[in-house]
Amino acid sequence: MKLWAVVENDKPLQLLERPDPVPTGRQVVIRVTHCGVCHSDLHFVHGQFDLGGGKTLRITDRGVKLPCAPGHEIVGRVVALGPDASGVAIGDERIVYPWVGCGACELCQSDNEHLCYTPRGLGIIQDGGFGSHIVLPDETYLFAFDGIDPAIAATFPCSGLTVYSAIMKAMPLDPARPVLVVGAGGLGLVAVRMLQALGFARIIVADLAPDKRAAALKAGASAAIDNGADDALAQIADAAGGLLQAAFDFVNIGATAALALDTLGKQGKLVLVGVGGGELPLSLAGMIFRIRTIIGTVTGRRQELRELIALAQTGKFVPMPVTRMPKDRANEALSLLAAGKVIGRIVLEDPA
Ligand SMILES: [Zn+2]
Ligand SMILES: [Zn+2]
Repeated sequence: MKLWAVVENDKPLQLLERPDPVPTGRQVVIRVTHCGVCHSDLHFVHGQFDLGGGKTLRITDRGVKLPCAPGHEIVGRVVALGPDASGVAIGDERIVYPWVGCGACELCQSDNEHLCYTPRGLGIIQDGGFGSHIVLPDETYLFAFDGIDPAIAATFPCSGLTVYSAIMKAMPLDPARPVLVVGAGGLGLVAVRMLQALGFARIIVADLAPDKRAAALKAGASAAIDNGADDALAQIADAAGGLLQAAFDFVNIGATAALALDTLGKQGKLVLVGVGGGELPLSLAGMIFRIRTIIGTVTGRRQELRELIALAQTGKFVPMPVTRMPKDRANEALSLLAAGKVIGRIVLEDPA
């Protein structure tokens, strides 16, 4: 097998050769055909995540041993099965759920494997989709996606699932009433489209950048507000016709979270999705009298991925645009992403 791997942090990926994996027990080996390039992959190459407040988390402190291949938005074909594997056959094309945990703890056993305290995520802790092959513990990490373009399907396990799970955490909501999406970058625009697919007609978007507000309106937002304006709160209330039932903060810095919280009416829910970081002064009595909820979320559950695929199969959800590149250009793809020159998602293709 081949592996586009981080050998040294902050250096270009190197192409390594390894023996093809031989599955044991219930393991399934996937030949990767498509892999999305996510911002987390840049952090992985850089070797650390910014936790905010001047704190950083080095990937080597999380148990990553270099060389290691990034990539967690994976679609591929089954090419080898362990002797006890079941449920899939050689040649099956599948979306990979990459958020592998220990498999044994209470979180893993309750379909919250993405929250496991001993994570082994593909392209996060162990070799991911920038390699030609990946190994999964069993077939429960694999999902059929008939009728969906594989390059688009590859974006579902991270960006798509993150947005879907964020929306589900705020449910039940009344689709006839407005909701707020803060941040019209990649995930924010996916949220606008997904909320529409779920029947929401009044989606108010807040973003500092005029071009992103224009993109949000084009994606179907009913109003786009400059959250840097002095009267942003009043503008949002005007557009909503009052206080809101839910807000999704895809930026998630102190200023955006505070604004989003202030837009909420009684029983309103604020879902924090972005990794901007910072702090939020909180009126504790305000939380009581308005009975508000603040929810953090990261990626999502297997069942949510299953539901997201079904939603995409209805044709109602228009996913983010993808730019296809051959996998041999993985370094160029990361440079384009780092330079902010990517619209939608780059998906590395490696047919074979
Ligand atoms: Zn990601
Ligand atoms: Zn676990």
